[in-house]
Amino acid sequence: MGWSRRCRDDALSLGQVCSMSGLVFVVSGPGGVGKSTLVTELMKRDPELWLSRSWTTREQRPGEAFDAYHFVTRAQFEAHIDAGGFLEWTSFLGNYYGTPQPNPPVGKDIVLEIEVDGASQVKKQHPSAVLIFVLPPSREEQRARLNARGDDERKVDQRLRKAEEEEPIGIALADHVIVNQQLEQTIADMLGVISEARRNR
Ligand code: 5GP
Repeated sequence: MGWSRRCRDDALSLGQVCSMSGLVFVVSGPGGVGKSTLVTELMKRDPELWLSRSWTTREQRPGEAFDAYHFVTRAQFEAHIDAGGFLEWTSFLGNYYGTPQPNPPVGKDIVLEIEVDGASQVKKQHPSAVLIFVLPPSREEQRARLNARGDDERKVDQRLRKAEEEEPIGIALADHVIVNQQLEQTIADMLGVISEARRNR
């Protein structure tokens, strides 16, 4: 079902989103699972998708693209909460992360790459959003990916502990659970989910 049709039920909670006619795909999963790579590939391969850029109070990592996030101070983030500027937001390992109220070009389907608490907020308000939860093939592989990102050992351990908490919640919430064993296969599976949702819209 399309986003605009759901809005008959949901209009009060998110008036702005209700003017959209596209679908919403939420890509979630624990840190180090490869969500960013997967989403980047989806955007390259499917011109009908539109990626929301999140706000965060986390510091930019060395080598991280300047536009990976809208990097802001806590005061700026809190002012935006107060102004009702977020579709969802959460506090994750000491930093704020949030999805600004989306404003995609007409006809595009929205992609959100967010953690489980945010995914749960979006699903509660808009049950028609399609949640794809991505799992790592193993904890060892996940640790290797987190290490490769340049986070120190303490942060890697924190994120792995957080993953243990997030996974059962994400699996229970998800419309589709995909293990990211092999990148090309995972992308093909995700594109399959997107096509199916469009056929049923
Ligand atoms: P990282 O610090 O590794 O970039 O992101 C930490 C976690 O926050 C990841 O699971 C990422 O998907 C999630 N995240 C990124 N943007 C948002 C957002 O706007 N909202 C929520 N709820 N989570 C986000």
